Amino acid sequence: MQKKPFITSRQAEEIAAQYPTPFYLYDEAGLRRNCEAIREAFAWNPGFREFFAVKATPNPCLMQIMREYDFGFDCSSDAELLLSRAVGADGAHIMYSSNDTPENEFAIAAELGAIINLDDITMIEHVEHALGGKFPETMCCRYNPGGVFRMSNGIMDNPGDSKYGMTRAQMSEAFRRLKEKGVRSFGIHAFLASNTVTNEYYPELAGQLFALATELQSETGARITFINLSGGVGIPYTPEQAPNDIRAIGEGVRRRFEEILVPAGMGDVVIYTEMGRFVTGPYGALVTKAINEKHIYKEYIGVDACAANLMRPAMYGAYHHITVLGKEEEFPDHRYDIVGSLCENNDKFAVDRELPEIAMGDFLFIHDAGAHGFSMGYNYNGKRWCAELLLKEDGTVQQIRRAQTLRDYFATLDSTLYYERLV
Ligand SMILES: *Cc1c(COP(=O)(O)O)cnc(C)c1O
Repeated sequence: MQKKPFITSRQAEEIAAQYPTPFYLYDEAGLRRNCEAIREAFAWNPGFREFFAVKATPNPCLMQIMREYDFGFDCSSDAELLLSRAVGADGAHIMYSSNDTPENEFAIAAELGAIINLDDITMIEHVEHALGGKFPETMCCRYNPGGVFRMSNGIMDNPGDSKYGMTRAQMSEAFRRLKEKGVRSFGIHAFLASNTVTNEYYPELAGQLFALATELQSETGARITFINLSGGVGIPYTPEQAPNDIRAIGEGVRRRFEEILVPAGMGDVVIYTEMGRFVTGPYGALVTKAINEKHIYKEYIGVDACAANLMRPAMYGAYHHITVLGKEEEFPDHRYDIVGSLCENNDKFAVDRELPEIAMGDFLFIHDAGAHGFSMGYNYNGKRWCAELLLKEDGTVQQIRRAQTLRDYFATLDSTLYYERLV
């Protein structure tokens, strides 16, 4: 499927006249359509809730939009919890799915009334300590089946090698112990494969967790009230991949629900999800400008963004589609490496990419950067975070986070020593 940018080169020029490149731009209309589709896909399940994984795009203006669709927020740090509170989420709309958890964060989560999802059985003691012995009424435990996660089309991922979750035996033990400590309602969570571009992942995972729920309920007597399918629903980063169909995914989960939970008398179980990438990924782009060209053994185009703004290509070799704005219809008869300015040779947004001829000053639209993009930014080489902008439904642009300044960058130095000389 052809990937189309959600702005024209003319719009990019107008926006850049006010907010210099590089910047992240989010598409409000696209985000809203997607939120609506997610809600509809699971409307068959009363109580269904998507808890947006805040780490994917931790911007309160975007979170505020999601609130309108009754989304909650999946958090794994104090800052993410505070962001969720700041946009008005109550406890029922906050899931605290952390791992290697600092004890004090359990107290913050509990104070907000968030649902606490335990990554490990040893966390029971930490919760007890952090909350002064008083356990919340509802708690969740994260499951890791070990081995490999297989689907009809092959091995998807390797849970046995991942640091998350509890073993099958620990799940029973944790439910028993939590029940003794006064927990009255339970959830089960698992995240077994990442960025799955298939409509079968959630249904397959749901089937496994539904079966586990029936076992745990009869084994331990714990009342299971929700199943949290977590994240992992992916997006097509390349034009060749077909996008997931969230309706088909919701329908696939419904079929497993009817097959497994309903006959077990568990037809009142609520489905939760914690998607991040699928919610915002396609609706954000990194917009950057070509500022240098270099002709050595290969052809290079240097842009004003770098891996510190979007780490995925450097970190995972991830593909991000690039459109040269204004040249959408031109023939891709040039082959470039598109690079940033970091002193790191992996600072390349694209390698050997076939694109139309790029002129200095052209705007490059780096697609599918709306999740795990800005949020994975860093300050290597003294590079500062860029701005985040929202393209609103009426076509206007709102700055929803300003770019970091030199002053911001130096702000944590000892002020009595160098700070005043630097800014
Ligand atoms: C990262 C994460 C998610 C979201 O993952 P996506 O791949 O963005 O859907 C959900 N839940 C937990 C616990 C996570 O760590």
